Amino acid sequence: MNRRKMLSGIALAGLAASLPVGKLSATTKEAGAKDSAGRFKKLKIGDLELFVLTDGFLQDKSTSFAPHADIDALKEILAANFRSTEQVEMAMNVPLIKTKDRLILLDAGMGVFADGNTGLLLKSMKDAGFAAGQVTDVLLSHAHPDHIGGVVDPQNNLVFPNAKIFIAKTEHDFWMQATLADFNNSALKKEPEFLKMFIPKVQNILTTIKPRLNYYDFDKPLYDTFSFQLAPGHTPGLTLMKISSGADTLVYIADLIHSDILLFPHPEWGFSGDTDLTLAAKTRRRMLEQLTAERVLVCAYHLPWPGLGHARGKDTAFEWVPQVYMTP
Ligand SMILES: [Zn+2]
Repeated sequence: MNRRKMLSGIALAGLAASLPVGKLSATTKEAGAKDSAGRFKKLKIGDLELFVLTDGFLQDKSTSFAPHADIDALKEILAANFRSTEQVEMAMNVPLIKTKDRLILLDAGMGVFADGNTGLLLKSMKDAGFAAGQVTDVLLSHAHPDHIGGVVDPQNNLVFPNAKIFIAKTEHDFWMQATLADFNNSALKKEPEFLKMFIPKVQNILTTIKPRLNYYDFDKPLYDTFSFQLAPGHTPGLTLMKISSGADTLVYIADLIHSDILLFPHPEWGFSGDTDLTLAAKTRRRMLEQLTAERVLVCAYHLPWPGLGHARGKDTAFEWVPQVYMTP
């Protein structure tokens, strides 16, 4: 398997995936471009408007998706749910929140790392009626390419020129000093060449956005609407966001979990892009317990479009109950 093939075979949702080396473009790709419907889903959260925008989708091989899985059991679940037993597909659901006076993007899509299946965010945003220049804030859940790649263009210009950008300080500091040793408890340790290529790219983006960068205050709400909770494991600074307005609450869980049918019943199976598989599994279970107890509406970046639903307890683990809609 050549290098290009190897790199493109790695899981990306977490991190690796098909980083198309040498083909860096933030422009909208053709995937799904013919179909102009369903690029965004609009909901009300109290006084706020939520638009879930699609950036496309990712794929990972079923044999490498969940590093601690029993592969036979994993394939059995896929087959029983009428899914491909070869590939696990992951949506790219990017929430955009409109308040009275701000337009706030939660994560920024694949952007400069986009391939033929991703990079649709700006088009989806336009379809929802917004331009990049209107975005006032970008709240990053973590610094993996499918979340941070959309904040800069191939010339290193800011894609959202008027936006403040937020990230957890833990996350920023981790990537600025990351070495291969930080991935000893990750499936990514088997891909050192990929990590050596990828880490400097993330550092470059973080350096480029530094003048715009702010760190989350985990003790104080932002704009009276957002509160933040650290969920370390997938990355050290993965940040979950609770959005409250009136009687409504939504929790954006970003990359806490990457599959509805596989990881809710088996949070311990882990994900190929997890930085620390043990910590990620522990955090995943703890947070799913919290979400189950709160019975709160959840938005997840990689669960099937549009990634909205509830976590519920089942047997000794959990299940995902997707929100159903009567109109697109
Ligand atoms: Zn992701």
